[in-house]
Amino acid sequence: MFNNTDKRYNQFSAHLKNKFGVKVYKITLDAGFSCPNRDGTISTGGCIFCDEGGSFSQAHSNLLPVEKQVEEGIKTLSGRFKAQKFMSYFQAFSNTYKPVKELEKIYNSALNYPDIIGLSIGTRPDCIDDEKIKLISSYKDDYYTWIEYGLQSIHDKTLKKINRGHNFECFLKAYEKTKEAGINVCVHVIFGLWETHDEIMQTAKKLANLNVDGVKIHMLCALENTKLAQIYKEGGIDFMSEDEYVTTVCNFLEYLPQTTTIHRLAGNGLSNELIAPKWLGKKFDCLNKIDREFINRNSYQGSKFIYKK
Ligand code: SF4
Repeated sequence: MFNNTDKRYNQFSAHLKNKFGVKVYKITLDAGFSCPNRDGTISTGGCIFCDEGGSFSQAHSNLLPVEKQVEEGIKTLSGRFKAQKFMSYFQAFSNTYKPVKELEKIYNSALNYPDIIGLSIGTRPDCIDDEKIKLISSYKDDYYTWIEYGLQSIHDKTLKKINRGHNFECFLKAYEKTKEAGINVCVHVIFGLWETHDEIMQTAKKLANLNVDGVKIHMLCALENTKLAQIYKEGGIDFMSEDEYVTTVCNFLEYLPQTTTIHRLAGNGLSNELIAPKWLGKKFDCLNKIDREFINRNSYQGSKFIYKK
């Protein structure tokens, strides 16, 4: 139903294949950034779920120069998945958290390869300003350019509880500036943050109304050496079951417009550090269940989307 696939949602990988005509993969990069929510600028604790890799990052290679990480990524992904084109994805920690001159050097070092067609930069909404947006926007004529903002929820009480260190208003301001500059925006959300089903759907409806270009959904999970792991061990949280998660994902996607690309619905490569919920270690089982749930409902992304002025 989307991108000439049988998916009932607008999967980002299929969107890329449709747009560029070949398989496109993201190369996850760790350029040695930090985060103001961990280095003491906002707090030293960080978000309660953040592990030492920096927010579910699969990029753990900051000992290697960025150029080397890109080269290795191209080699690995073209060998394993027959990928032909690539996006450089700055994933670990807050990838706009340096002066603009340094950012320019770092981003440039990841783009100077003929098969790199895109740039994606993960960051916090309080780590962006006009100058940085101008720099990132300067890539957009030559590269498919995205900023990925960690938001997690539109509810300030939740952001406080998970120690995000910014509120929803801060996200909105960053979002508006980024869209005005013509940069694509993907928003990260997390399910299971002590919120009711209705509260999670309010996040879906708000993002739908903002007409966001992309969404990445995570299930909250406790990883080794995180505050959340401690909270879990002390009995302070019950994680969603897989069935509950699947139902919530489908309900959420039904509210989003069909144009919103879905960058992720289940975690990747978390099994070594994953404490709970254990079902999250089987990513493909979860994705298959989401497909089946949509078929059983005879539904799809956008089936409940209503644009409100
Ligand atoms: S903003 Fe990202 S890197 Fe920073 S503490 Fe939160 S999850 Fe970790």
